[in-house]
Amino acid sequence: MIELKNVHKVFKNKYYSTEILTDVSFSVPTGSWTTIVGPSGSGKSTLLNIISGLLPPDSGNVSINGTNIYQLTDPERSELRRKEIGFVFQDFKLLPYYSILDNVILPLYYDRDKKQLYARAEELLNMVGISEALFSRLPEGLSGGEKQRVAIARSLIANPQMLICDEPTGNLDRENRDNIVDILLKLKNQGKTIVLVTHDMEIADRGDEVYRLINGTLTQSEVRV
Ligand code: ADP
Ligand code: ADP
Repeated sequence: MIELKNVHKVFKNKYYSTEILTDVSFSVPTGSWTTIVGPSGSGKSTLLNIISGLLPPDSGNVSINGTNIYQLTDPERSELRRKEIGFVFQDFKLLPYYSILDNVILPLYYDRDKKQLYARAEELLNMVGISEALFSRLPEGLSGGEKQRVAIARSLIANPQMLICDEPTGNLDRENRDNIVDILLKLKNQGKTIVLVTHDMEIADRGDEVYRLINGTLTQSEVRV
């Protein structure tokens, strides 16, 4: 369960100050899919950074499974991120000089038995529909849809409870987009908690809850598209 209470965030320096989040409260029940939509620049990425422990709010509470994450020490918060949260990005963020298989194991490279880790990576790649023939390729040898499937496998390597997806289908055509949505739905049905940011209304509709971020506040979207 992710819970935000009265989250407020201002970006300011000597020259300017801009209020990005005025007063944001919402919760994401474990095992549900929540979508956040909103215009470009409305603060969606800022909100995801706050949820994932990367950006402290100026006021308000952010808790994950009852733990106020900004009361943790930095190492505790990093540990929580590594274990509990998987990340999927619009631009995939695969490392160009590592094979597909190595990209998937990289998040745990230093602390797990390698043989077991590779076995798990292969299992995850199978699950997202990446064939063995692609395992030893570099990311440049894959299509966009394939890259995003690899990125999803990577996000799952530590078996996190939550997946945070920032415009995961923003660079994909319709067919690949639908494929990624199907994989995310499957993961939700396996009990993962999904928070997804998009401006594609067709995917927004797949969420159990849809919120709109406009003018620093989040409102539950009543209109299902
Ligand atoms: P979205 O993801 O909805 O496009 P962002 O969260 O990326 O929106 O950005 C919201 C606004 O906050 C933008 O106007 C952006 O320029 C501003 N912003 C984001 N990060 C910073 C920062 N570190 N310092 C100052 N302004 C920022
Ligand atoms: P898309 O139409 O989704 O952009 P691409 O045209 O990039 O897909 O790729 C189509 C297929 O060709 C994919 O299955 C991919 O694995 C393969 N492919 C693309 N680039 C390379 C490459 N540099 N080396 C080997 N195979 C490649």
